[in-house]
Amino acid sequence: MAEIRLAGLEKRYGAVAALRGITLTVQDGELVALLGPSGCGKTTTLQILAGFLIPDGGEVWAGDRLISSPKGAVPPERRRMSLVFQSYALWPHMTVSQNVGFGLEMRRLAREEIADRVRRILGVAGLGGYEQRYPHELSGGQQQRVALARALVVRPDTLLLDEPLSNLDAALREQMRFEIRRIHKETGITTVYVTHDQAEAMVIADRIAVVNAGQIEQVGTPQEIYETPQSRFVASFIGGANCLPARVLEPGRVRCGDLELRTMDDGRFRPGDDVVLCIRPHAVRVRGAAGGDAARDNAALGRLVQHAYLGDLQDLRIMLGNLPIRALTSGRARYRPDDQLLVELPAEACRLVRT
Ligand code: ATP
Repeated sequence: MAEIRLAGLEKRYGAVAALRGITLTVQDGELVALLGPSGCGKTTTLQILAGFLIPDGGEVWAGDRLISSPKGAVPPERRRMSLVFQSYALWPHMTVSQNVGFGLEMRRLAREEIADRVRRILGVAGLGGYEQRYPHELSGGQQQRVALARALVVRPDTLLLDEPLSNLDAALREQMRFEIRRIHKETGITTVYVTHDQAEAMVIADRIAVVNAGQIEQVGTPQEIYETPQSRFVASFIGGANCLPARVLEPGRVRCGDLELRTMDDGRFRPGDDVVLCIRPHAVRVRGAAGGDAARDNAALGRLVQHAYLGDLQDLRIMLGNLPIRALTSGRARYRPDDQLLVELPAEACRLVRT
């Protein structure tokens, strides 16, 4: 087992700069998710990690072994890494046991050892009793678990997963998140998990690296990333915060459109700085126009422009002057487009990030 270190990785495809200095350390035994929108460079990073691509700049280290740099790369088969893709790529003419044991046969392990390791890993993957089935006799989730078992049975130092759940339906995907988390806890293999799905990353990962346009914007636990985003991109990509342009007046006070608002202050910004005020939709409080004191409550009157009923929540789009605000409220009050509403932005929920 070993820690994986990516140091300043760069990669260009013609005029496209796919990676612009990716730096990240994955601790031994940790599961880190690379999370970001389509085209941000997640797969390119994983392919360099796996040894299928050579970087134009930077290095990859596995423990004290340099395994990739522009000067050359250790070939994939000598990296002690296993890779699982979206497509399960199982051998259709082999049973579950044969699919999982294939890599061990190629390594010429003794028959008893192969049988023992296959049996154990099928147990870990929740596939006991399915040994003699063929892939077409399995559900999508079971096939993906076979692919995972096949990757794990060779006892790699590192497991690389590229959107492994994206071919499954929504319910199964949710269930498999917890399965992958459990399997990782049981095996303790250093894992890099690529996804564009925020909820998936939050359930599965010890830490999340948020990738944007070939760079890592922030690395942290799911809670750190959600509760203390450091940039506008992270705040809006994770949890869909309202991001409003603002200027700092004094510590803990900003001008935002026509409003003066109190905010949290972590000492990063000075009076006069242009910043972005972030507030989560569910932190915005909404009342009828007669229900409060705007000046006292960090609030202002707004006009409801759109309204959607989501069962347990209402999704409201409100214009506060020229500022668009989204609020998710569990209140039972019924609102109609063009209603005047008192919109409160509680100071403890208003965080400032760089523009
Ligand atoms: P997705 O979630 O859609 O798979 P991604 O974050 O994995 O996206 P990459 O596949 O790493 O993104 O691509 C990063 C950038 O590099 C994108 O702009 C993409 O169009 C470009 N790119 C990737 N592979 C190639 C290639 N072989 N030739 C040219 N451009 C490429």
